[in-house]
Amino acid sequence: MAVDSTLAEMHWKHDLLGSIEIGIVVLNKNYEVQVWNQFMENHSNIVPGFIKDKSIFEFFPEIDKNWLIRKAEPAFSLRCPVFVIWEQRPYLFKFGTNRPITSHGEHMYQNITIFPLASLSGQVEQICIVVYDVTDEALNRLGIQTLNKELEKVSRVDGLTGLFNRRYWEEQFELEFKREKRNDKPASVVMIDIDHFKKVNDNYGHPAGDDVIRALAKLIQKASRETDVCGRYGGEEFAILLPDTPVANVEFLTERIRRLVEKYTVVHEEHEIKFTISVGIAGFEQKFKDHVQWLEAADQALYRAKLSGRNKVVVAGE
Ligand code: GH3
Ligand code: MG
Ligand code: MG
Repeated sequence: MAVDSTLAEMHWKHDLLGSIEIGIVVLNKNYEVQVWNQFMENHSNIVPGFIKDKSIFEFFPEIDKNWLIRKAEPAFSLRCPVFVIWEQRPYLFKFGTNRPITSHGEHMYQNITIFPLASLSGQVEQICIVVYDVTDEALNRLGIQTLNKELEKVSRVDGLTGLFNRRYWEEQFELEFKREKRNDKPASVVMIDIDHFKKVNDNYGHPAGDDVIRALAKLIQKASRETDVCGRYGGEEFAILLPDTPVANVEFLTERIRRLVEKYTVVHEEHEIKFTISVGIAGFEQKFKDHVQWLEAADQALYRAKLSGRNKVVVAGE
């Protein structure tokens, strides 16, 4: 009778281990496999009889041995469970998925729980590793993250030129102003406006005007460094923030852009369009109460460039 009931119990435990959709692996202190359930067999194509009493590391070279031993240590010594979520480590066992191949979807994402199995004497001689397939959740989350990144980018960038839009540029400019207030290092801001741009629109049409705006944006981007923050400030107005750059260097840089533009020809349909720009530069000064005053200084310099005949670079205060 007693033998019967033990057998029956073994039987339903075996069925249970086989039918659940999670992986169950029992390891002894040498990390040799003691239990390997159906889920593990299905995904690894390794049958329990083959892996039994063999080191888990022999079969799964992707498992970082030192890491797992360190990670499982508290389960053995402190008898407390250990959790590893997919955000920390995408998987323990590299299993495939039957999902269509996407950038993230080639392997199963896993959450792992390691818990101690105490023997009758109370000693922890074995640990149980439970493997949860969380691929759906992970792919959803990653998908949302990618989408969020895209949205963030879209909200920062001007659609016509690919430069930063005014809102984002001004945010960066204000931050830089605050940094400057504390550090008092040289920094400059530049305002650029296309000369007689209305004529371009009037003579060649609005789409031609758009081409000119795009061309100028490219020239500005090409001439500036990675640390410079270039934005489209308005219709045909651009702003560049140059951290750590004294006015003299900026004058040199913008003078180069001005000459490049002067020589450049935009071809739109059958038209060859020439254009020029006016430039105002203002170096940071402690006397500015806010970032708006700093930008106004550059804008006034730009205004003087226009007044003095256009196609010019003017530095504030000179
Ligand atoms: P100035 O030399 O004094 O700057 O003369 P301007 O003709 O350039 O004068 P202003 O800066 O006032 O004119 C800007 C014009 O730019 C007015 C507007 O119709 C045009 N504009 C603004 N945004 C766009 C745009 O996205 N595309 C096109 N094609 N034109 C635009
Ligand atoms: Mg303008
Ligand atoms: Mg203009």
